[in-house]
Amino acid sequence: MTLAPTGPLAQASRQALAGVVVPAAELVQVSKHYALGQTDVTALYGVNLSIEAGSFTVISGPSGSGKTTLLNVLGCLHQPTHGKVYIGGTDVATLPDRALSAFRARHIGFVFQHFNLLPVLSALENVEYPLQLIEPHADVRRERAMEALKSVGLGQLALRRPAELSGGQRQRVAIARALVKQPTLVIADEPTANLDQKTGAELIALMREMQHRSGTTFVFSSHDPQLLADADERVHIVDGRVVEPVTASRAANLHLAKGASHEHG
Ligand code: ADP
Ligand code: MG
Repeated sequence: MTLAPTGPLAQASRQALAGVVVPAAELVQVSKHYALGQTDVTALYGVNLSIEAGSFTVISGPSGSGKTTLLNVLGCLHQPTHGKVYIGGTDVATLPDRALSAFRARHIGFVFQHFNLLPVLSALENVEYPLQLIEPHADVRRERAMEALKSVGLGQLALRRPAELSGGQRQRVAIARALVKQPTLVIADEPTANLDQKTGAELIALMREMQHRSGTTFVFSSHDPQLLADADERVHIVDGRVVEPVTASRAANLHLAKGASHEHG
């Protein structure tokens, strides 16, 4: 019998204690095909990617290049057609469906281009919502949601519905909702695409600040080159392929650097 905690993150933290650097997330030779009627659309071709724990990584690329597909695979919303997805060192394909859903609910926060807030709920209730799966006490849920809203500067607007908020404020609510469960990984798919330039830049600065404060790993996509400057790692994707060379630190972290073949570009 063992009393050691189990699961991917416990494993990752044990490895971290042992001095092994475990990437927050990793894609190895990931391809993704969609069946579209009779045709087969390939959205990703053999993508290799290692996301360093605690980093702020941006995936850039033109519309249709595969950013959303890549983030959905990384966030375990979709399975790759080929290849491996590791979260905290664990091959997610080995997790049974229910364990994977629970894992995702607990450890991965999502921010979407269209905000995806529930219109009938207040800002506070929207932020509280994901905690229902992981926090049994209603008063604790409310308290944590309020804290998260305050941390994005929206404490005063907690009772407003999404329709009563500006685009930038809605996206702040979405960030609070992603962060409230203190996830390991926050995935933001073009979070600034529906915002004007200035509001978009403010939002990226806010995500950066939250990342510094919480130590959470952030991966966001954008097709706006002006928003890339502040990232720790930049990954450029064109037609489903990573075209930016894999940096030395990233290559050192890749499982495949230990022997498997290496395709990119
Ligand atoms: P981006 O987010 O960079 O705009 P996507 O990941 O949405 O790119 O799309 C990449 C490619 O995959 C595009 O050619 C797109 O048309 C195709 N694609 C995305 N989702 C689907 C789907 N559900 N069915 C068929 N093709 C899809
Ligand atoms: Mg997209």
